[in-house]
Amino acid sequence: MGTTEVVDESLVSVQLLHDFFPGVPVSMLRLDALHPVVSGNKWFKLKYTIQEALALNCRTLLSFGGAYSNHLIALAAAAQHAGLHSVGVVRGLVPLNDVLRRCQDYGMSLHFIDREAYRHKDHPEFLQDIGRRFPDAYLVPEGGAGQAGRKGAGEISRWIDGSYTHILLSVGTGTTFAGLRNALPAIQHMMGFAPMKGGTYLADEIRIHLLRQQDANWSLTDRFAFGGFGKITEPLAVFMRHFHEQYGFALDRVYTAKMMFGLRQLLEEKTFPEGARLLCIHTGGLTGN
Ligand SMILES: *Cc1c(COP(=O)(O)O)cnc(C)c1O
Repeated sequence: MGTTEVVDESLVSVQLLHDFFPGVPVSMLRLDALHPVVSGNKWFKLKYTIQEALALNCRTLLSFGGAYSNHLIALAAAAQHAGLHSVGVVRGLVPLNDVLRRCQDYGMSLHFIDREAYRHKDHPEFLQDIGRRFPDAYLVPEGGAGQAGRKGAGEISRWIDGSYTHILLSVGTGTTFAGLRNALPAIQHMMGFAPMKGGTYLADEIRIHLLRQQDANWSLTDRFAFGGFGKITEPLAVFMRHFHEQYGFALDRVYTAKMMFGLRQLLEEKTFPEGARLLCIHTGGLTGN
């Protein structure tokens, strides 16, 4: 089976967010509409990975993640659609939760390793050991990072026309951001929102993967981390509820809700120049809600 059948990319659309802020048009690229689980940016990061695995006759996709990883569940579902087995190496000797159970429902076998071992998951000895245990596995970096992930993420540019001046995106590993920065014209400003404390360290991670170093028209903020990755506050929860009622679709609590809350704040601070047209990318992640 090819990879194009896994999701239906024609479900993606751009939606204007009426009255998000007076005088500044704000639209949302609805990548969340792709698929309930292989959603948002995760599909784009996986599509070439799956293609490569199939081309190399690997029968198994193996990857890494925490117990609440959107990446692992997306990978499990995408692998099943493509007729591949999947293995998830999970950080920590943690009990099964809903996310991990759903991974298993998609046929993923889970391997729990302690946090110390997980820290060494990129070391050659560790990878050799994994290679011996799963000889037909194609290894996918944590979070779907890497060259194939960035290439797929670049395809998100297909829905972004030249009329938008600012493109807004949540950042986890920076893979989607870097891939899209490489694909978009330098004149379009990209703004990244890191949902974890101290998340601006990701700027270095992004910079090393930019193809044209002159593409400096981007910025990254961690002002809207709300106490840290996965943390939520009462005002953020209220904002999410109101947004859902007003626009008829949900934001995810880990990434996109923080970005949209932050955006409203930035608009109030008059951060954007006259004539700005903003496009926010809904990167999915609703399995985490
Ligand atoms: C995984 C995820 C991200 C982060 O993507 P990166 O490519 O790792 O930066 C952003 N938003 C959502 C909803 C996600 O699930």
